[in-house]
Amino acid sequence: MSMGTKITKRLHQLFAFVLFGFASSIANAGMEDLFGPFISEADEARIGAEQHEKILAEFGGAYDDPELAAYVDSIGQFLALTSERPNVKFTFTVLNSPIVNAFALPGGYVYVTRGLVALAGDEAELAGVIAHEIGHVAARHGAQRMSNAMLANLGLGLLGVLTDSDQVAGLAQLGALAVVQGYSREQEYEADLLGVRYLSRAGFDPEAMASFLAKLRAHSQLESIIAGNPQSQDQFDILATHPRTAERVRRAISAAGLRPVREPIVGRDIFLRKVDGILYGDDPEQGIVQGPEFIHPAMRFRFEAPPDFQLLNGTTQVIAKGPDGAALIFDLDLRKDVRAPRDYIQQVWAPDAALKGLESIRVNGFDAATATATATVSDQSYDVRLVAIAFNSEIFFRFTFLTPPPATSKYREPFQRTTYSFRSISRAEAERVRPRRLAVHQVRSGETATSISNRIPGEKYPLERFLILNGRYPDDPLRQGEMVKTIVE
Ligand SMILES: [Zn+2]
Repeated sequence: MSMGTKITKRLHQLFAFVLFGFASSIANAGMEDLFGPFISEADEARIGAEQHEKILAEFGGAYDDPELAAYVDSIGQFLALTSERPNVKFTFTVLNSPIVNAFALPGGYVYVTRGLVALAGDEAELAGVIAHEIGHVAARHGAQRMSNAMLANLGLGLLGVLTDSDQVAGLAQLGALAVVQGYSREQEYEADLLGVRYLSRAGFDPEAMASFLAKLRAHSQLESIIAGNPQSQDQFDILATHPRTAERVRRAISAAGLRPVREPIVGRDIFLRKVDGILYGDDPEQGIVQGPEFIHPAMRFRFEAPPDFQLLNGTTQVIAKGPDGAALIFDLDLRKDVRAPRDYIQQVWAPDAALKGLESIRVNGFDAATATATATVSDQSYDVRLVAIAFNSEIFFRFTFLTPPPATSKYREPFQRTTYSFRSISRAEAERVRPRRLAVHQVRSGETATSISNRIPGEKYPLERFLILNGRYPDDPLRQGEMVKTIVE
């Protein structure tokens, strides 16, 4: 979680996004249907500019790396020139977010996260993602509708935990949340069709879009497994030799009637130079998950989730899903003129809830309060425990613990431990927290994917992570002297 000047109560998307939607249907719409003006260009530009600031706030702001920003912009501007709307002023932004995502807003705003950039293997793959997003802009895909859908999806308020079914429904499938939705399958296909065309015109091999999709799929499967989704374990194939998603791109390529690009641009060396050293995973400025611990060096606090809970760090919330349908949400709210934590719970946080056991407590030197309530969401009953901690004169930190009633007694003590694990940290403790970075590594004699990945810090599945980052098949040995991406501290 990060703290901007304005604290928004929104559920930020957390993890493992499937950006292209993996549509498999083929639309036979003629191209003349794709460019109808739904709203004026001036309106598009206005909507885009309005949403741009919100997107920056939701996704950790622009990633502070001018060289990488200029590189992504140059690729994007080059591709945009080949589009049907070369006069649109395109703005390309690398977002400081570890999740893997890319999306576009009306008016030519195109975003890729640094998590996505790290996953790409070369310039052509990155260009493939950007070209697809330019396709959405060029085809003017439901500009208004999309921005509304996006805001609705982002706007899951914390107060809404007690009332909003989407919130808990979302919790049930952490790891596969797709927040920026709103495109139909036909639109995804159109964006593919346009994207491969731009790639080809710009001198890239359109197949790069397919190879990136394969990585993306493997990546989202791995995140899903880490998030504790057992179904994905069965289907996990790191990098399938013939992924279905690649098929989708090949169909677009043949539908677009593209001839093979001679000597296509791959741009692997320059790409690796640009991404060497970029942040990987959480930014300490936004707090870091280390095993069961969430530690925020900038705001100087930490807490520990119960065993077997998987912590996910969003922009404005930290969420952890545990066994038995149990979950916790950690976030903050402004104190404003409410002084006492118990007044805050009763009057501000949950004024409409039938609170039980409201009491003031002390948590490692902080004034705090707790209460329980019940909630029914999506026909499912939950016992809810609320904890508000007065961290300083500005902020309440809040825990929301959720359990289906049969599991409540089992988690009473673990949730209590988590509550009392909250404490401030010293400057020295804060300085010991070091971010992970992407590093380009030249394979030395005798090194293997296993030996290199064993050195990756803080990774539950280091070998799988390494293979996905490098788009490698498990049986594809590394060659001495080749350049690979790995993760270092
Ligand atoms: Zn798309």
